[in-house]
Amino acid sequence: METSQIKTINHNMDSFIDQLLPELEAIYKDIHQHPELSMQETRTAKIAADYLNKYGFDVTTGVGGTGVVGLMQNGAGPIVMLRADMDALPVKEDTGLPYASTKVARDPEGVEVGVSHVCGHDLHVTWLMGAARLFSEHRDQWEGTLMAVFQPGEEIGRGAQSMIDDGMMERFPRPDIILGQHVMVGESGTVGYRSGTILAAGNSMKVKLFGRGAHGSQPQTSVDPVVMAAATTMRLQTIVSREIAPIENAVLTVGALQAGTKENIIPEDATLKLNIRTFNDGVKDHILSAVKRICCAECAASNAPRDPEYTELDSYPLTENDAKATAKVAQAFAAEFGNKAYETQPASASEDFSIFGRNWKVPYVFWFVGGTDPAVFLEAKKKSQLNTIPSNHSPKFAPVIHPTLKTGLQAMITAAAAWFN
Ligand code: ZN
Ligand code: ZN
Repeated sequence: METSQIKTINHNMDSFIDQLLPELEAIYKDIHQHPELSMQETRTAKIAADYLNKYGFDVTTGVGGTGVVGLMQNGAGPIVMLRADMDALPVKEDTGLPYASTKVARDPEGVEVGVSHVCGHDLHVTWLMGAARLFSEHRDQWEGTLMAVFQPGEEIGRGAQSMIDDGMMERFPRPDIILGQHVMVGESGTVGYRSGTILAAGNSMKVKLFGRGAHGSQPQTSVDPVVMAAATTMRLQTIVSREIAPIENAVLTVGALQAGTKENIIPEDATLKLNIRTFNDGVKDHILSAVKRICCAECAASNAPRDPEYTELDSYPLTENDAKATAKVAQAFAAEFGNKAYETQPASASEDFSIFGRNWKVPYVFWFVGGTDPAVFLEAKKKSQLNTIPSNHSPKFAPVIHPTLKTGLQAMITAAAAWFN
């Protein structure tokens, strides 16, 4: 009985999806051309909410900012939450695509920036809209509750938490499983899953180092924050290379180092911006405390007038897929995609997706959908040049619509159906 129901959905699914694709392609291109920065996703949220309303969902908008929650109760059965993130990035698109974004907006600091969907969240939104419509129009073939969640602000690590802080757990039923997916560099048409850690934890911070300003010709009257910042930057690189075991993986990048205005002025202070990626909490805690230790020690070595100041910029937890739930997804993917579904390596990117599962204490599964033209991908692979393919956040990141659009939709439906039947 159970397996026959899965088959019915999957059998009907293919032709229904094919009919749905032109509509979804138009939605995708529209969202792609109208990207919105984190926590400002009003237009995108309205498109998603209107669509859910049209297909009979019970829709709540404005959850944690622009978040949208759509519920469809369809008899007794598991509650399955599907999540898509909606925000774009402050990057000027340089893909040359006919539907490329030309949008310009103001970031939270008031600076004018180009805006584009170079992380592919426009695909995520479109996939979830398509899945919502498909389940709505095949209500005779599944039982349970579908919860479609469109979240704001993933790129700044705030959106999922802001939905939780806005009473998500009290206002909506607790899901039995939470599912999410991300388009990545990979052969379009494939899906990559993994049990356990699939994405790194990410921690970013700003460190301000204090010196004493002076004339550039009189260094003896200064405490030079430029030298302090340079020494600190170099020493920080010894954390991963000297303090972390070789079998562990970690990244510490100093992505910004700012000090001074003019060649003959020793400035008052310097600012470092750090980005850290780790794959387990022990390594993360060690690196975070080592950063403070080294910054303090370098300031002391320079005779700084005061200790450095730390400001957290963002913090993403590990994405750790539940083993049992991942096995279920993998089995469903194998039946749907054959050898186009594969076990992937963890990526050093980070996501706030797990915040829902962590707070609700329910299992979650997150997987990757390949977005690279198969010919381009296989050629680059043959030449060992996969690193030359523009990745997420590159101004040239450009997933091919076909078959990526279809594959992501199939993946989301297939995984959800594994619980519903
Ligand atoms: Zn991103
Ligand atoms: Zn992303």
